[in-house]
Amino acid sequence: MPSDPEGLPPETAHMPSESAHGSLPSGKDRHWKETSYPVMEHFHTIQGEGVHTGQAAYFIRLAGCDVGCWWCDVKESWDESIHPHIATVDLVRAAADSGAGFTVITGGEPLLHDLSALCEGLHEAGLRIHLETSGSSPMSGDIDWVTLSPKRFKEPLDEVFPLVDELKVVVLTRKDLQYAEKNAARCPARTRKMLQPEWDTPASIPLIVDYVKAHPEWTISLQTHKYLNVP
Ligand code: SF4
Repeated sequence: MPSDPEGLPPETAHMPSESAHGSLPSGKDRHWKETSYPVMEHFHTIQGEGVHTGQAAYFIRLAGCDVGCWWCDVKESWDESIHPHIATVDLVRAAADSGAGFTVITGGEPLLHDLSALCEGLHEAGLRIHLETSGSSPMSGDIDWVTLSPKRFKEPLDEVFPLVDELKVVVLTRKDLQYAEKNAARCPARTRKMLQPEWDTPASIPLIVDYVKAHPEWTISLQTHKYLNVP
């Protein structure tokens, strides 16, 4: 959990710059300030989807994904090798300086990387951490809010389900509603359950509307950042 709500500890003022870090590995055995991650982009914006829609957040989009959803809207994130490693200290500093109340670690599939060091740094800076994952790789890091977006192309691991705060299932066809229920049955009772239309499949919208009317324990998640034209 966050330990210093006022910001980064004083010694971080002398952190080396992004370019000085090259490709330091992430990992449990290193101090977080000695690590780096492959990053496609990081930016201050509005959380467009899910339970925290409309709230300002700092997004860190880690590179690399082995899930392969054909409708993926961030395919440029898949190949980790084309993205730079950025020092964890620089990611933490950028997130803290943004003034955002929480950070969203997303991807790609962020759990391809050991998130322990990144979480340690963000918590030291007083930031809450939200994770958006397919759950298809082992969990790591101290996460405050886990959003599971399961994909049938590479199923979530059993270990992820007890940790899920928010289940967000992308819907293209009626079969995805069955898939959503199958995953919801494995989540804790507290899990918020959301159905999200795939952006380029508008035919899914009436399916979802009818389903939520009949099953009010589910709610609808829209990709509002696309309506707002923000990243
Ligand atoms: Fe794209 Fe996410 Fe699917 Fe990976 S898991 S292919 S990043 S939608």
